[in-house]
Amino acid sequence: MSDCIFCKIASREMPSTIVDESEKLITIKDINPQAPTHLLIIPKEHFPTILECTDKTLLGDMLTTANRLAEEQGFAQKGFRTVINTNEEGGQIVRHLHMPLLAGRPLSGKMG
Ligand SMILES: [Zn+2]
Repeated sequence: MSDCIFCKIASREMPSTIVDESEKLITIKDINPQAPTHLLIIPKEHFPTILECTDKTLLGDMLTTANRLAEEQGFAQKGFRTVINTNEEGGQIVRHLHMPLLAGRPLSGKMG
């Protein structure tokens, strides 16, 4: 996917602020943060949405990474939000699977 912004970020063709990296994932700061901490946990492999994600271990890795970053960055106990937006009505902007991780302020809208 040569025109995909997250593929370009993962391959370092586009600059980003990388805060964490593993074999399968890269975590960057969102350029338009909606909270004091707004990270994007992104698989290096291109899947347009979670619906196409054939690597099911990846989803566990994404959540495990979110937990670890929350502990490392000190907001685990206060709280944080992880979401996966899917397609238009789900609010997905970039068509490459990713998981926003938000923290640092009370997040409005209690869900579930
Ligand atoms: Zn991509």
